[in-house]
Amino acid sequence: MTTTTNRSADLGTGGMPKPREVFRHIPGYKPGRRADSPNIAPLASNESHHGPLPSVLEALAVEAQRINRYPDAAVTELHERIARKYGVGADQVATGPGSVGILQQLFTTYCESGDEVVFAWRSFEAYPLLAEIAGAKPIMVPLREDESHDLEAMAASVNDRTRIVLLCTPNNPTGASLSHDEVVEFLAKVPERVLVVIDEAYVEYETAEDAVDSLSLIAERSNVLTLRTFSKAYGLAGLRVGYAISTPTVIGDLRKAALPFSVNSLAQRAAIVSLDADDELAARAAEVVAERERVVAELEDTDWQVLPSQANFIWIRVAGERCAALGEAFDDAEILTRVFPDDGIRVTLADRASNDRVLEVLKAL
Ligand SMILES: *Cc1c(COP(=O)(O)O)cnc(C)c1O
Repeated sequence: MTTTTNRSADLGTGGMPKPREVFRHIPGYKPGRRADSPNIAPLASNESHHGPLPSVLEALAVEAQRINRYPDAAVTELHERIARKYGVGADQVATGPGSVGILQQLFTTYCESGDEVVFAWRSFEAYPLLAEIAGAKPIMVPLREDESHDLEAMAASVNDRTRIVLLCTPNNPTGASLSHDEVVEFLAKVPERVLVVIDEAYVEYETAEDAVDSLSLIAERSNVLTLRTFSKAYGLAGLRVGYAISTPTVIGDLRKAALPFSVNSLAQRAAIVSLDADDELAARAAEVVAERERVVAELEDTDWQVLPSQANFIWIRVAGERCAALGEAFDDAEILTRVFPDDGIRVTLADRASNDRVLEVLKAL
């Protein structure tokens, strides 16, 4: 007869739930300082400084009356709308709760424990974290002097265990972007069994004429996926919706890894209405681009190392004590920035007045 005592002995008594080994060194989330006063310039997260479009707010008010219902699990209308915008099939589009949600699905779909994911470093901080949580091994290839991806070294890092390569263009946090020819040359060196994800979170701010045309690459190859988001230029960071475009096969597999109903009904509706307002949003992005050119030009004669950026932020390459001092100066000026102590400081571009405050700090130091 099994007694209660015996059963707990079988299961092992004492101790506590044990997460997988990898969780021993995954850092817990450290919340950033919040912009809790109107004086604070929130320039740490590359969000759009423009408030929501009136058309989006109106649509959300209508949609809010139906939130007792589940969202469309197949995200039919939004997928069709995105497909129409890019001239691809609706079966070539997947959405997720932010593009980080899609990244997580990609790792779940393609990586077995111990498989490798190659990406440049420094790049988007979510890459190593999501790869490790999925049990994959991040292979981080240092950027070149000019802040661009070292595609040659990245291609050389691909081996039998590599399942995914991530290219971030324009790169967060450095603002450098990849040219079409560079990417084509890179793809020629990578076997088609390796998925190449081109993360274009900031593509709406890109003005380089030779910028990579990832959609044309999807038509030509079986292993390219474009990742985009409504969080930056589309101004919907708080609603969490991003999308992927690839071949019907890749998209079909990726969709299977989705948490059911993960793109909520408000996010679906706001994204659809935002696509209808493409011109208005493009004009907003153009404003930021004009400010970017002004800010970068103003910093040319200073000692700060600021290269041209293709995104809605600038990157100040600085380390050690100087980095700490600059970070403090931004803090004192109530400007929230992203400080990477060993590499530099990233500052989001916003309206002219906020950008002037940034310039003032940089010129005073
Ligand atoms: C901001 C950002 C994203 C977008 O993340 P969401 O989850 O869509 O908000 C994706 N990739 C990069 C490189 C980013 O900087």
